[in-house]
Amino acid sequence: MPSVAPMSPDNLVAKLIPWYREVKRPLPWRRDRDPYRIWVSEVMLQQTTVTAVIPFYEKFTKSFPTLQALAKASEGDVLAHWAGLGYYSRARSLHKSARALAKLGTFPKTFAQLIELPGFGPYTSRAVASLAFGEAVGVVDGNVIRVLSRVLDLDLEWWKPRDRDLIQIEADRLAQARLENANVDPSDLNQALMELGATICTPKSPTCMLCPWGRLCRARKNESTHLRPRPKPRRESEIWLWTPEIIQRSDKRLLLVKNSYAPFLKGHLIWPGTATRLKTKPKSFHYKGGVTHHEIFVNVVASKKPSSKAELKRWAAVDAVWISPNEMKTKVPSSLIRKAVTLLELDDTTTT
Ligand code: SF4
Repeated sequence: MPSVAPMSPDNLVAKLIPWYREVKRPLPWRRDRDPYRIWVSEVMLQQTTVTAVIPFYEKFTKSFPTLQALAKASEGDVLAHWAGLGYYSRARSLHKSARALAKLGTFPKTFAQLIELPGFGPYTSRAVASLAFGEAVGVVDGNVIRVLSRVLDLDLEWWKPRDRDLIQIEADRLAQARLENANVDPSDLNQALMELGATICTPKSPTCMLCPWGRLCRARKNESTHLRPRPKPRRESEIWLWTPEIIQRSDKRLLLVKNSYAPFLKGHLIWPGTATRLKTKPKSFHYKGGVTHHEIFVNVVASKKPSSKAELKRWAAVDAVWISPNEMKTKVPSSLIRKAVTLLELDDTTTT
């Protein structure tokens, strides 16, 4: 395992905390230390920026102000509040975990307890334990990886577990630093690291002149800032042709099935149909969209009504639901699915 030349965590913390207390942004999840709200914000912030998350967070916590309120909500309602944030598996997992937590009757306080819960990974468990309950554990997100890679000038393959562990060790050392006569809360320390990465030590143009670590930073001294952290090798993008079949019943309701055939939108309710991987982009299609590394070209088939009772029974046997065109707006969050309704100009009074 590569080693990291030591740097005094006390020196780093002594510079970082006063800076953070002066500049920290008044983010809505920083108003109090409610573990439920911190948890929701941390799940929303995974792969989404602070600015994008704020309106969703405000709306979500207004509709589901407590863990119990979220646990009691229907999955459709939760997904409707998530619409626009993407990565809907996060919303499903949050909802499922809320139900498990509500049964416990108390919010576990430590990383070791939280990691045992369904839906709580290492990052979320550390974030809640530290930000809500002040446990001295480091919280390593993309901002923290960048900041620590630069200040310590770490040339690591940080996406690999072995190197990721090294960054975690450094983050833990900082969270555990105790300064004489200074009341340093691990929550402040972790949030300060994230704040530094989000506002000063940004990916492309870090403003080192304004950085509290400007004089300590090894990458700045070694002129390697632009090389840290190493870029993660990109996952190759895949081209897919999706041919959804839009089947409408005589009461205008549309058929959606639990996705078991396409590699994108896994576990979602989607149209029945087929998905085929292509080598090149098709020339003709109705619309296109992207989900993670999948580039999806959509050719909609406005299908016949189910022709017989037997066919209706067949659909009832699979994991399927019938939704009216107007309900699609609130019950189906993915625009990739909803666009077919717009394309065919379906509403609660039309038929295919
Ligand atoms: S000195 Fe520059 S590169 Fe180093 S931590 Fe601060 S902003 Fe980042």
